[in-house]
Amino acid sequence: MADSNFIDYVKVLCRSGKGGAGSRHFHRAKYVPKGGPDGGDGGRGGHIILRGNSHMWTLLPLRYRRHIFAGNGESGGAGRSFGKDGEDVIVDVPCGTVVFDAETGEFLCEVTDDGQEVKLLKGGRGGLGNWHFKSATNRTPRYAQPGEPAIEKSVILELKLLADVGLVGFPNAGKSTLLSAISAARPKIADYPFTTMEPQLGIVDYRGNRSFVMADIPGIIEGASEGKGLGLRFLRHIERNAVLLFMVPADADDIKEQYEILSNELEQFNPQLSDKPRVLAISKSDMLDDELRDEIAKTLPEGIPHVFISAVTGFGLTELKDMLWAEITDERNRIEVAPITHRPLDGHHRVREEDEFIFENAGLPDDDETPEDFDEEEWDDSLDDAGGRMLDEDDPFMYGDDVYTEDDEDIPDEK
Ligand code: GDP
Ligand code: MG
Repeated sequence: MADSNFIDYVKVLCRSGKGGAGSRHFHRAKYVPKGGPDGGDGGRGGHIILRGNSHMWTLLPLRYRRHIFAGNGESGGAGRSFGKDGEDVIVDVPCGTVVFDAETGEFLCEVTDDGQEVKLLKGGRGGLGNWHFKSATNRTPRYAQPGEPAIEKSVILELKLLADVGLVGFPNAGKSTLLSAISAARPKIADYPFTTMEPQLGIVDYRGNRSFVMADIPGIIEGASEGKGLGLRFLRHIERNAVLLFMVPADADDIKEQYEILSNELEQFNPQLSDKPRVLAISKSDMLDDELRDEIAKTLPEGIPHVFISAVTGFGLTELKDMLWAEITDERNRIEVAPITHRPLDGHHRVREEDEFIFENAGLPDDDETPEDFDEEEWDDSLDDAGGRMLDEDDPFMYGDDVYTEDDEDIPDEK
């Protein structure tokens, strides 16, 4: 997999920008000796934003980008001047990217549409400058708010391909051959298992100016949902398909049984998959004569439309495309299929050694201090320029350009 361009799985450390501290400043000019508080607000920290890009097919650009950090907000200044907002970081991702918390496996968000922007991590708000705290009882507030802290999170991005049709079949069923026959994709074809090491997408032309996207996904073998073989890693791509095309070769010992095994694997992986519309194609039908085909037709599973095809001779391919198109464009399917619950990641997902990270999925405390519940009193000192806490009467403060502490004797008198 190392030399592959198809990357559907990356882990990145993200950090939004912290908010700039509010300034604690008192106005002072030659003829205004008793200028009031005029410390400006700190700037907002930068957000981390994901943006869907329909020209991207892989997470490869993120593969070697281990960190994504947004800019910090700058501190406010004298004369109520605002600190500059920290720079947002916009990360382009392929449509169909799903984001999970790398520590807990929890689903965070997904990006499905071109141009869609999703705020992954919010930048911290800037602190208010001291002029906000001026009141009838305290006309010389010597405190300002610190900015909110940054949020840091390790996330896993997974790509779930958005194809209209997903091919489901054991290795050697003829999936790659079909995809080459009806689309411009040129997958590797051979008669040993797992020649398709990564998902292939093909655009299938349909009766003139229409088209749909078909994905060939590495073969599933029995037990794939428990981590055997290559299939599991790719099963997630199937979650997003509108229609599932099951393929069982005509020379299979028991077509119905094979179909049921495949079907079971999918359902164990995600029970919602059983609600998706399906079509069963009996592939390699060039090996059958009419009589044999009629025989087989009697033994096929019930409740699923079927079609005999041969990618080699082209037999049945038009009929197959008609059936798929009907399912894809069926409004009822769209409504039924569109929402899918992304189940949290768990250890099962790891089938490659290079997926070195491990998360214990259950029971981790939700220890992220989000800005909403962040408590100024308990705030860690190291987090902010302003000392990471509300500044109080004991802290140094400024009049004009001069710094004073409460003990100084020459503090300009405001009263
Ligand atoms: P996949 O593992 O499902 O992608 O299967 P492949 O497309 O790689 O095909 C496996 C083997 O079946 C190859 O040797 C193909 O030449 C053969 N095959 C595929 N489609 C047909 C077909 O329609 N007729 C016949 N006779 N052989 C086929
Ligand atoms: Mg293949």
